[in-house]
Amino acid sequence: MNILVINSGSSSIKYRILDVADGTVLTGGSLERIGEPESRLIHHWQDPAGGRQETTRRAPVADHAQAFEMIVTVMRESGASAQFAPDAIGHRVVHGGERFRAPTLIDAEVVEALRTMCALAPLHNPPNLTGIEVCLAQFPQVPQVAVFDTAFHQTLPAKAFRYAVPDAWYQGHHVRRYGFHGTSHAWVARQAAAWLQQSPESLRLITLHLGNGASAAAIEAGRCIDTSMGFTPLEGLMMGTRSGDIDPAILVYLNRETGIDLEDLDYQLNQESGLKGICGVNDMREAQRLAANGDERARLAIDMYCYRIRKYIGAYYAVLGHLDALVFTAGIGENSPAIRGQSCAGLERFGIRIDDARNAQAAAGVFEIQAKDAPVRVLVVPTNEELEIARQTHACLMLRHQGAKP
Ligand code: ADP
Repeated sequence: MNILVINSGSSSIKYRILDVADGTVLTGGSLERIGEPESRLIHHWQDPAGGRQETTRRAPVADHAQAFEMIVTVMRESGASAQFAPDAIGHRVVHGGERFRAPTLIDAEVVEALRTMCALAPLHNPPNLTGIEVCLAQFPQVPQVAVFDTAFHQTLPAKAFRYAVPDAWYQGHHVRRYGFHGTSHAWVARQAAAWLQQSPESLRLITLHLGNGASAAAIEAGRCIDTSMGFTPLEGLMMGTRSGDIDPAILVYLNRETGIDLEDLDYQLNQESGLKGICGVNDMREAQRLAANGDERARLAIDMYCYRIRKYIGAYYAVLGHLDALVFTAGIGENSPAIRGQSCAGLERFGIRIDDARNAQAAAGVFEIQAKDAPVRVLVVPTNEELEIARQTHACLMLRHQGAKP
């Protein structure tokens, strides 16, 4: 089954058609800078011999509807139209609130429910919804499934997802921990179990998704029991431009002292904080380059970044009571031995011991980096959110198909 996976953001659309059976990417690309004077589409596809072809187009694209038109046109022109016949479409949706605990077949009622959820994720859900509406119009015959970043975390117990704030905030305004990056945590947890040749039910894991955004999850028996992102993707670990955990009273203090308003505070916490706030750059490789050249602020930023990860490892170790494996994933987690090593330093008494040579390898696929005989396995597992969305889309349709049988 070929599944078109759509990740529709505020100014970009990423898309891929995957063969869900083996994960082959048949065609895909990304269209960026929607709404700017010049948008750019990079599109790639497999030629009949199995080689990779790529083309780049630049043109003004006013909105998401035009963006999809451009994508379809380029596919036709690139000869990939035969491949552009998806059997189903899987849409990444950032926020599913408390209602959507699993991938969901999209119909008019679901679209309306998603619309009511836009207030929970005002930057992410509206463009996700636009992508859904455009695809429903363009491909009315193709079943479409919403796959939620929050769904994997809906297994959190109330003691983990509630904040210690007035009950009315939760009852009246849905204020609770939702958690994000769920497709990535779910994917790497399952891959880790397969690698370890154990059933997910028998494992206690901590997964660390370290990309531009970053989050940790404590996973017991295949179910997430705690995660570091909260009501929004701002809470938890330090990130490229996001602060992670801070004392909320700081906002009140700054507002009183300087008059800074809420919009500005929101912007500063999401766009001007994290690595960027401390050393001026949000990209980890850049921060590492600066630190290697003696930049003290970059060194501090990296120390803070790893220290925060170590604190969460400790917290989730305590939450789980036992740890079988620690899993690193995403851009930084997969590619930076230095960050992995520094984040685990000092945890030897907890059974987390890294082997420097294994940690330094640049292997493709899953690999292990713990020292020989260390009780906790430490894995590097490449994330693959698109394939996870495709698989969840497929699973949702299969379930429905089975349910529809007499
Ligand atoms: P996104 O969250 O946008 O998907 P990624 O998962 O691609 O982001 O992660 C981007 C981050 O990964 C950037 O900070 C980048 O510097 C970092 N990164 C990628 N490769 C390396 C590397 N070899 N060493 C250190 N950091 C890396």
